[in-house]
Amino acid sequence: THLEVTFSPMPVENRSGTLIAFEDLTAFEQAGAMRRDFVANVSHELRTPLTALVGFIETLRGAARDDAGARERFLTIMEREAGRMIRLVNDLLSLSRVEAEERRRPSDEVEILGLLGSALASHKDAAAATGVTLRLEPCPGPVKLRADADQLTQVFHNLIENALKYGASGKEVTVRVSRIEREPVLRGPAVQIEVIDRGEGIDPLHLPRLTERFYRVDTHRSREKGGTGLGLAIVKHIVNRHRGRLRIESELGKGSRFMVILPSG
Ligand code: ADP
Repeated sequence: THLEVTFSPMPVENRSGTLIAFEDLTAFEQAGAMRRDFVANVSHELRTPLTALVGFIETLRGAARDDAGARERFLTIMEREAGRMIRLVNDLLSLSRVEAEERRRPSDEVEILGLLGSALASHKDAAAATGVTLRLEPCPGPVKLRADADQLTQVFHNLIENALKYGASGKEVTVRVSRIEREPVLRGPAVQIEVIDRGEGIDPLHLPRLTERFYRVDTHRSREKGGTGLGLAIVKHIVNRHRGRLRIESELGKGSRFMVILPSG
């Protein structure tokens, strides 16, 4: 089982006047409903840590005032909750920036192996903490693409972070880069970046919705690990902007493979 998210151009023009009016209204309504859902989700995600913060402030003023041990514990939790809010706001900003730029194709020439090397280096400590070996399997020679370096860095960062969060401790996480001479869907040369973990895997039932904003297989677990539920939504938009494909293959209990396939021609 796998999920496939591919960039799709604007739908072809519809020639029936009545049908267009009908479809436009439906699309308009759908967009409105999606926006309302999104605002409700964001509000809820922000309210949870805020409520906790206000609760702890009250406790610090009252019952825990003269208890140094409790104060320290509560401050640690407050710091974590504030950190969660910062991550959420940062991800929301990334998402809106990426969305705003989605129709503009990136024009810089970027070397991918260098970006991946830095992304892996920045996760070395987190990997070591759970006994995970992070391995880069590059293809030979430099790999140059028309791309947005900051955005691709964010894609690699989000996928590696997930592989570490949901991968099994003590097992390997591999990042593999390969060239494809003629990619069947993109119909041209491409570069494939795979992030492979040997973790819990994902039930096929969840795959179709995995890249939706705030969709999580296990909300409690994601929160516990500091997730915002926006990581894969950001990845999807960036891959779309690069006119690429995102494929997700996963087997429950065995692990997952996230594949980013970018046109190189
Ligand atoms: P989060 O911040 O919750 O990690 P993401 O958008 O990055 O949000 O991922 C959405 C959900 O997909 C996660 O909550 C998790 O349930 C699932 N997921 C993502 N990557 C993996 C992975 N490598 N292995 C298993 N599950 C994953």
